[in-house]
Amino acid sequence: MENYICVTCGAQYALSSEPPTFCDICTDERQYVPDAGQKWTTLANMQEGKSFTNEFVYQEEGVYSITSKPKFAIGQGAYFIQSEGFNMLWDCITYLDDVTSRKIKEMGGIDAIAISHPHYYSTQVEWAEVFDAPIYIHENDQSWVMRESDKIEFWSGKKLKLSEEISLHCLGGHFKGGTILHWKDDNNGKLFTGDIIQIVPDSQWVSFMYSYPNLIPLPASKVQNMAEYVNELSFDRLYNAFNKVIRENAHSAVQKSAKRYIDAIEGRLFDI
Ligand SMILES: [Zn+2]
Ligand SMILES: [Zn+2]
Repeated sequence: MENYICVTCGAQYALSSEPPTFCDICTDERQYVPDAGQKWTTLANMQEGKSFTNEFVYQEEGVYSITSKPKFAIGQGAYFIQSEGFNMLWDCITYLDDVTSRKIKEMGGIDAIAISHPHYYSTQVEWAEVFDAPIYIHENDQSWVMRESDKIEFWSGKKLKLSEEISLHCLGGHFKGGTILHWKDDNNGKLFTGDIIQIVPDSQWVSFMYSYPNLIPLPASKVQNMAEYVNELSFDRLYNAFNKVIRENAHSAVQKSAKRYIDAIEGRLFDI
């Protein structure tokens, strides 16, 4: 019996003697099955191959990104967040080895894991077991959890406060349970948004898609609603899932980007 991992999205599945026939996450229109077809691996295979390492990059005080090299599956980074008395893993990556766990334990370990949406569930249960930490997932995305665990705590509603400084907010959009993390720090506050609010190549702007690989937009009303919710949060900086950061004025970047998105989709932004 193995916990098979989908090579395209990095999600680990419940124990089975044979690999699953297909990956539920990749057959959904927010992901894709590559032309070469569905492939599976296991964490033990990845560790034995010795080709992967996890790179820690210091972003600012209390924030490290952790990304696997070479790129695996979607290629996102996780963030290790050291807030006052409370360490978090925000989003998750598939590859985990002893070097990674030792390093994080030396930095104080992990009190809680929270995941923005199913594309980053990866090997969340392995991480939760190694660090003996709960995983917070919004209940709207419960059906996307491919490996169940009593470490997973499904939460409901719009907001979950995890500590004095850290709270989770469900914005929906990309996924119904799409969640962002708000850190009310000593500066002006930070948002960690996964793919729920996506920084685009012109990095003073963001976008909000239903499917990024298949370029399927969200309705204007949903984006309006997400922007109104985020408008109430105090933050100046925003991190996405790919080590991109809006360092300053992220609050206004989200508002002007939502307006541009809605103007575009409702035919007011350009003549064509
Ligand atoms: Zn997959
Ligand atoms: Zn995604």
